Amino acid sequence: MRKDRLTIVVAVFNEEIALPHLHERVLAVLTTMRDIDGHVLYVDDGSIDATWDCISALARQDRRVSALRLSRNFGKEAALTAGLDRVGEGAAMILDADCQDPPELIPTFVARWREGYDNVYGTRLAREGESWTKRATARMFYRVIGRLSRTPIPADTGDFRLLSPRALQALDGLRERHRFMKGLFSWVGYRRIAVPYHRQARVAGDSKFSLWKLWNFALEGITSFSTVPLRAATYLGMLTATGAFLFAIGVVVKAALYGDRVAGWPTMMAVILFLGGVQLIALGLIGEYLGRLYEESKQRPLYLVDTCIAPGVADSNLEPTPGGQADDHSSAVVGRQVS
Ligand code: UDP
Ligand code: MG
Repeated sequence: MRKDRLTIVVAVFNEEIALPHLHERVLAVLTTMRDIDGHVLYVDDGSIDATWDCISALARQDRRVSALRLSRNFGKEAALTAGLDRVGEGAAMILDADCQDPPELIPTFVARWREGYDNVYGTRLAREGESWTKRATARMFYRVIGRLSRTPIPADTGDFRLLSPRALQALDGLRERHRFMKGLFSWVGYRRIAVPYHRQARVAGDSKFSLWKLWNFALEGITSFSTVPLRAATYLGMLTATGAFLFAIGVVVKAALYGDRVAGWPTMMAVILFLGGVQLIALGLIGEYLGRLYEESKQRPLYLVDTCIAPGVADSNLEPTPGGQADDHSSAVVGRQVS
């Protein structure tokens, strides 16, 4: 019997303490899944601690484990893209390195995949070990993006998911530089289903996402998947212009009836400041989109690979490949063949 192939992709950034815990649990699960040809691919997103030593050692010991090191820290989204680009055949399962996504659920995801679902995503029922502010801001973010985005993005859903081969193939075609992965996964469409789970606390180390980073991430998500804010600026402009016009009529009428006594410095200042503020907000908004357009137009690769250690292949110090370019799927090691 030919086994289905599953590659577990983990983006890792400074997780030397948490990673061994995760690895142990992942291997235990893979061992129980006899009808699956399971592999693990760790993507080191430019860690500065002993993470790379740890994953390269794991890759050398075990043929099921591959290790990919990016040339620097490109961020989780790029690291995940690098990993997914190198899933040769079969499905891919994305996990966080800090054990927040329980590997024990992998068989449930696989079962759903076998039922014919392409995008099986974990939806958090509870978030343990996360601050009140993080939970509240996350809830707000999902509400806003749910309203604004035309692609429905499931709430309380992270990157913890299984993607079928055809979903992976479709993702290959989305090479935008500003990558809001949750949105991209949803954009692909196909059959999808949620797997509810309890998100556990991190086993070790600290979260890599500060409130400021999360804010920028939220901006990324909204600007990548919605142009509503641009339109909102137009409406806000129209609204204030109408207000100003009515106000002007009032001023003229008042002047005609009672004469103009050169008063009204406070109102003038209020109007000028208010309109100035509105204009600056609108300009800033346009700037956000323009900046992204600029980044896209540069057509830089999404990531660069430093080293790749894959089973069966001797430690291959690859030439710094222009990762993420449309033609970069032919990596010597594990690369999906895309025509
Ligand atoms: N991560 C990464 N690159 C980064 C930041 C984070 O690959 O620049 C990885 C990190 O190692 C972890 C996952 O992304 O496996 C989620 O990060 P974290 O647990 O810090 O985020 P949180 O769960 O707090 O949202
Ligand atoms: Mg985490």
